[in-house]
Amino acid sequence: MEIKNEYLAGLMERVIKRNPNEPEFHQAVFEVLESLVGVAEAHPEYIERGVFESIVEPERIIKFRVPWVDDSGKVQINRGYRIQFNSAIGPYKGGLRFHPSVYEGIIKFLGFEQIFKNSLTGLPIGGGKGGSDFNPKGKSDMEVMRFCQSFMTELSKHIGADTDVPAGDIGVGGREIGFLFGQYKRLRNENVGVLTGKGLNYGGSLVRTEATGYGLCYYAEAMLNDHGSSFNGKTVCISGSGNVAIYACEKATQLGAKVVTMSDSNGYIVDENGIDLDLVKQLKEVERKRISEYVKFHPEAKYHEGCKGVWNVKCDIALPCATQNELAEDAAKTLIENGVMAVCEGANMPSTPEAIAQFQSNGVLFGPAKATNAGGVATSALEMCQNSGRHPWTFEAVDAELKSIMENIYKNSCEAAKKYGMEGNLVAGANIAGFLKVADAMMAQGIV
Ligand code: NDP
Repeated sequence: MEIKNEYLAGLMERVIKRNPNEPEFHQAVFEVLESLVGVAEAHPEYIERGVFESIVEPERIIKFRVPWVDDSGKVQINRGYRIQFNSAIGPYKGGLRFHPSVYEGIIKFLGFEQIFKNSLTGLPIGGGKGGSDFNPKGKSDMEVMRFCQSFMTELSKHIGADTDVPAGDIGVGGREIGFLFGQYKRLRNENVGVLTGKGLNYGGSLVRTEATGYGLCYYAEAMLNDHGSSFNGKTVCISGSGNVAIYACEKATQLGAKVVTMSDSNGYIVDENGIDLDLVKQLKEVERKRISEYVKFHPEAKYHEGCKGVWNVKCDIALPCATQNELAEDAAKTLIENGVMAVCEGANMPSTPEAIAQFQSNGVLFGPAKATNAGGVATSALEMCQNSGRHPWTFEAVDAELKSIMENIYKNSCEAAKKYGMEGNLVAGANIAGFLKVADAMMAQGIV
């Protein structure tokens, strides 16, 4: 695959040279630049003023040691990151990921995507991301607390309610956000909205827990409605069984669909009667167990080792909600052979470029992560509003705002794709709509 514009193709080469051994970042940049060929042709001023060059270079990369003591008294050392990618339209905003696979390239890809996603929400938030190669799995609550306190001891020097506001991501849920928030407050003596995804009794927003999964389904429903269809009566396959997967399952079910799969990194379950979500919540959110436990309570359901097989299950709609590059070309072909009509991404960059090409060339409706999972960060921005105003909103008010934001993202992506000659291409539409707002703000603020 190549970018059909000399300047952008050259820029892509420079990105690869300047960021060696970071394939996820290269993949994310390629997808955006490929979509921006028409924009570069229509707006030579962006090239003259170095906007494309600037947008692929983080404003700041912070990398630090995180020392902590485990339950046996042994010192452990992890690596922490925060990449403040772009603040043209608002304070940096984006989650923290705690997972052993985290390295600079993963945080860079996520931070880069976050710029466009945040712009698409229509809210004033810039792009950033952070995390650590710490693995919370199998750690005691006290070990997680000590790690979070050490991580925040350094991070607190670089963030603030009007500077950079982190949230959760893989491996960072309510427990971790609580420990991080407690340490920030202790170090700075400030009770401010410096993190989102907080508990409801200390500044959190209703609907934030549900937001990414619900938002994904609101976007998907808008897309399906636009094509004379809906979730109602459809069979849905979901991968993952974390925050995004659980609330995608809840909303898809509320909208009349039957969800038949969920997974974790070890394997997947198939329940043809429809997933028992109360059980999944108990196993994953409360007991922190593996998804394989599900079949102990539902012997009629099946557990299969290996997470990739989840895409072999026949469905109308697929919602990948686990991790990057979890849905490759072969899986896309199988889904298509099995008659899938729509794929919407809950995770960040879960489909490989080859898988996306399969969907797009076979008439499958395809909603890209930047657009479809923006409901999480949008609701985080609503949490920031509530924290600044010191006034919590009702569940209904936040949910209605989330739904309207997701419907607008779908509409704006469609319009942007059409305007630049790529009608129906929601990947290009999201990239273009997200880019234009940031690019114009960068132009207005000068070379900074
Ligand atoms: P969680 O940690 O709550 O859940 C992650 C899920 O994905 C788990 O089921 C996990 O299984 C599975 N998973 C993680 N890594 C892998 C892997 N390498 N292979 C297979 N399965 C894996 O995270 P979230 O639900 O919050 O995040 C899921 C995705 O959604 C990520 O891509 C994240 O960036 C994205 N996202 C999240 C948002 C949010 O608000 N939380 C907002 C926007 C995007 P296991 O337990 O075995 O690791």
